[in-house]
Amino acid sequence: MSFDASRPDLTLGIVGAGVMGRGIAQVAAEAGLTVLLADADPKAGPAALDFCADMIRRKAAKGQLAAEAAEAAIARIHATEAGPERGYAAFQPCHLVIEAAAERMDVKHAVLAGVEAAVSGECVIATNTSSLSVTGFAAGAKRPERIAGYHFFNPVPLMRLVEVIGGALTAPTVLDALEALAHRLGHQPVRASDTPGFLVNHAGRAFGTEALRIHAEGVAGFADIDRVMTQAAGFRMGPFELLDLTGLDVSHAVMETVYRQFYEEPRFRPQPLTGQRVTAGLLGRKTGRGFYAYPEGKPEKPPERPVPPLPAALPPVWVAEGEGHDALRAILAATGAALENGAQPSERALILVTPLGDDATTTAVEAGLDPTRTVAVDPLFGFARRRTLMTTPVTAPAIRDCAHALLAADGTPVTVIHDSPGFIAQRIVAAIVNVGADIAQQRIATPDAINQAVRLGLGYPKGPLEFGDALGARKILAILEGLHRFTGDPRYRPSPWLKRRALLGAPLTLAEA
Ligand code: NAD
Repeated sequence: MSFDASRPDLTLGIVGAGVMGRGIAQVAAEAGLTVLLADADPKAGPAALDFCADMIRRKAAKGQLAAEAAEAAIARIHATEAGPERGYAAFQPCHLVIEAAAERMDVKHAVLAGVEAAVSGECVIATNTSSLSVTGFAAGAKRPERIAGYHFFNPVPLMRLVEVIGGALTAPTVLDALEALAHRLGHQPVRASDTPGFLVNHAGRAFGTEALRIHAEGVAGFADIDRVMTQAAGFRMGPFELLDLTGLDVSHAVMETVYRQFYEEPRFRPQPLTGQRVTAGLLGRKTGRGFYAYPEGKPEKPPERPVPPLPAALPPVWVAEGEGHDALRAILAATGAALENGAQPSERALILVTPLGDDATTTAVEAGLDPTRTVAVDPLFGFARRRTLMTTPVTAPAIRDCAHALLAADGTPVTVIHDSPGFIAQRIVAAIVNVGADIAQQRIATPDAINQAVRLGLGYPKGPLEFGDALGARKILAILEGLHRFTGDPRYRPSPWLKRRALLGAPLTLAEA
């Protein structure tokens, strides 16, 4: 049971000619497959065919495809009569059927029964579900060995990733064939086990939920969090920009589903804020207002805290030993500030500390430093692109402003936040690495697949394990342990995968033999 992904006459049936069905149809036809479309709505198949034809001809007009090849691809797509009303007899020649109908198990089971009754014993049946169990889908099948998950991303022609998911009874040859077909479609397959969110929607839980938590704790506003994550940490979009783009109706539902499906795993805990905003209709770009307003389709960014003037009489500056000590002193020296060299700061000094995983208050108190003169600077991503400063609740405003003015003097943007173990970027990135490490620990996917899926599926600059290795697994562990110690929240408990590799000094990509 299976199919040869390279055969020239490979025939693919697609049930559900909506957003996903038409995207899959387009890439399959371009790759030489014959595509048969079915839908409950008789207008949907022809509409999908028109849509695909339009997209393929546009590619030809841009020179991405020869005109004849484009017309040949269009001719390979057929809107059939098949569907719940007329049955699936038209799918008899299919080697593979992909179900991309509504996200409801009763609908999917009805599709499966109809398709199984029509196709040959060799035909593989795959579901494009994002959030339902593949094993649950297969439980309705006569031959569950031929059922698998084949999870594409929207828009299919641009998102070149597909998750290949085996249910409890799926035959390995089926997964091999789906993987080979993915390559033929120009997609990168990643294998994941049948667990909530599969790989990408599971690995993506940390970015948004940790950002929401930082916001909910009053540490920083959403626009500041986005600025730090894009400029300091190098993400293409900030977490709130992404929530606005995806739409809070979708993101909120995914946050809740994955959290509940994992029996309230604290690492995925959502925040009440998103439910409230969904109720208010603040869904994001699609409703013209989410976290940002979109007056002309473009986000309106709230202004940043202005850079205060440098005081006429600058205090001397003392920088505590630690991460980024020398780099910070070099930046300050260039401003003309008087740097202290003693083991302890003088009575007048502005005190700068650079903690990993500790807040400014704990750092000052544990080192016996005056918290009214202490300001923390985040060292994790260096100080070149954007600097994050953090105060204790008693830091004197004049001291805060002085640190801000000094560290902005060379034109580098500065974000000032309230006290938080791990600032902004440390918290979010450590949470991403930790969730990625635990996916590896649970053997949901291999380290390479996790990195690849996150880069391609979520567009992060690095995969979670690559991030951890680039920044240092020991540092990530220190950040999580600091957060865990301070908050007592099991959300921050380090994954055993991360902890062991950090203790051993081994790369996070190391899989056990
Ligand atoms: P859609 O609403 O755009 O399209 C679904 C199509 O299925 C519609 O044309 C509808 O008429 C048809 N349909 C509904 N019930 C049917 C039935 N009983 N028999 C035949 N056709 C039926 O939805 P979509 O966004 O394309 O999603 C389809 C599937 O893909 C869902 O399972 C969804 O979770 C999954 N998915 C969606 C995305 C996404 O971003 N939209 C991404 C990955 C996976």
